[in-house]
Amino acid sequence: LLGADGQPRATIFAEMSALAQATGAVNLGQGFPDVDGPESVARVAADAIAAGVDQYPPGSGIPELRQAIVAHQARRYGIGLDPDTEVLVTAGATEALAATVLALAGPGDEVLTLEPFYDAYAAVVALAGATHTTAPLRATPDGFRLDEQALVAAFTPRTRLVVVNTPHNPTGAVLTRAELELVARLAREHDALVVTDEVYEHLTLAGPDGTRPAHVPVATLPGMAERTLTISSAGKTFSFTGWKIGWISGPAALVAAVRTVKQFLTYVNGAPFQPAVAFALSDEGVAAWVDELAASLARRRDLLSDGLRTAGFTVAAAHGTYFVLADAAPLGYDDGATLCRDLPRLCGVVGVPVSAFTRPGSSADEALRSWVRFTFVKRDEVLAEAVDRLARLG
Ligand code: PMP
Ligand code: GLN
Repeated sequence: LLGADGQPRATIFAEMSALAQATGAVNLGQGFPDVDGPESVARVAADAIAAGVDQYPPGSGIPELRQAIVAHQARRYGIGLDPDTEVLVTAGATEALAATVLALAGPGDEVLTLEPFYDAYAAVVALAGATHTTAPLRATPDGFRLDEQALVAAFTPRTRLVVVNTPHNPTGAVLTRAELELVARLAREHDALVVTDEVYEHLTLAGPDGTRPAHVPVATLPGMAERTLTISSAGKTFSFTGWKIGWISGPAALVAAVRTVKQFLTYVNGAPFQPAVAFALSDEGVAAWVDELAASLARRRDLLSDGLRTAGFTVAAAHGTYFVLADAAPLGYDDGATLCRDLPRLCGVVGVPVSAFTRPGSSADEALRSWVRFTFVKRDEVLAEAVDRLARLG
């Protein structure tokens, strides 16, 4: 939680967004949309405030939202859940993750994540006093894939939790059923629980042939529902990242343990936003809006990826999320962190070094030293401006 100088450090996203503001650079660092979500959803929240939905909601979340989450999981994935005992509403996916790790792991336990990993994972494992272990994703001609041998080797008798993230931030990988089945088999063999962060579940992006990769929820794999906690949130699906309404679902005993911690982190959250998210999860018009978002993100991914390639980067294929990874080594930059600090001055663009998502000295850290993450969840004209500016780098 401290920087290299021993001082408390801001997250990389806050640091890079501040840099973008201070320099007037195009901010392709922090992943948040520059167009808000559906008006019909925002209106439900506004109406709730107007109607005086202002006080603490129930500890597990309002029944209407828990029922909408259950209906969504049943409709999309065939997952059956009890809304009273197997679902908990949280302050974003971030709190769901923190409460889960704090509830289920402690000193002596290993929490295994993929690497690179979303930065909060390392922080909450440290807060829990547990040990963070990782299994690398590797660059391949078709984007990042699990290194299966390294995954097998990363499991130990102390592996308590395996944190999966698909679609994956920062690589844009969508894990295949075969990759997830290997994770599942190893978790079963080592009697580990799986925590799966599926906040980008609806943001799988079509490839050149127009087909979208399938999102496979870990909880749908044979024998996994009983040992899997699934996390998602409204932020990415509906472009309301500031609302911080997330949820976690899984076996009642595990959800109860997470609820016990959540009640002392935030107690409850987001009363007027909860009915709005319940509406968003249930409404067919909003579902069509989300499909259009995914289609437009695929187009915007292509716009940015092509621009980065033209500028001289090696670009990994991104199959989901808001993000694409690009290697600056062909441009002569071997350190992504230094490049990201210089990028506003060099060409007026902000990205995030992939080293923000790795552990110093790990094999993924070494392999990805010269890589940078850029987000494409920005309007076309913003991406076009960024691409023009990046072309000055060569
Ligand atoms: N997990 C991943 C992989 C993410 O990218 C994000 C959003 N940056 C989160 C969790 C946090 O989600 P929320 O805003 O709902 O807390
Ligand atoms: N999830 C977003 C990202 O990865 C933003 C997260 C944050 O600001 N903490 O860029």
